[in-house]
Amino acid sequence: MMDPIPCPGCDSFFVPRNKLQIFCTDPDCQRTRKALWQKQKLVCDPEYKKDQKLANQKWLQNNPYYWTKYRQRNPKKADRNRSLQKIRNCKIQKNKVHSKASRTIGIAKMDSSKSRNQGLLGQYWLVPVVAKMDPVKIFIATAPVCSP
Ligand SMILES: [Zn+2]
Repeated sequence: MMDPIPCPGCDSFFVPRNKLQIFCTDPDCQRTRKALWQKQKLVCDPEYKKDQKLANQKWLQNNPYYWTKYRQRNPKKADRNRSLQKIRNCKIQKNKVHSKASRTIGIAKMDSSKSRNQGLLGQYWLVPVVAKMDPVKIFIATAPVCSP
């Protein structure tokens, strides 16, 4: 019999059946194990990655309204995705018309600081670049300026 080891999924000790078993038999931990395995496989096995991509495309072909329905079921998430897409589009656009953008910035700099502040008003999504975190919706409004 093997010594009990801690399961990385739930931190509880269990007795593995063999040396290869590192997760306990809890369904949640088995799901984690499978997800991990798939993640690793996607990185290490280009053939598997291709197969998965094809399978996904096939499935989408058979379920063409999946995303439409998904958006209907999750209007909030769809709203978030649209905002994220806007950000992505913006980034692409920025790269494309770089020269044009810098000209616009040049004009903005000559303008008074008042109009520059107003350019920041509105709703924004705070999207973390590094951390795996959900974007946060923030709202920027004018604060009264304290004059000396
Ligand atoms: Zn476990």
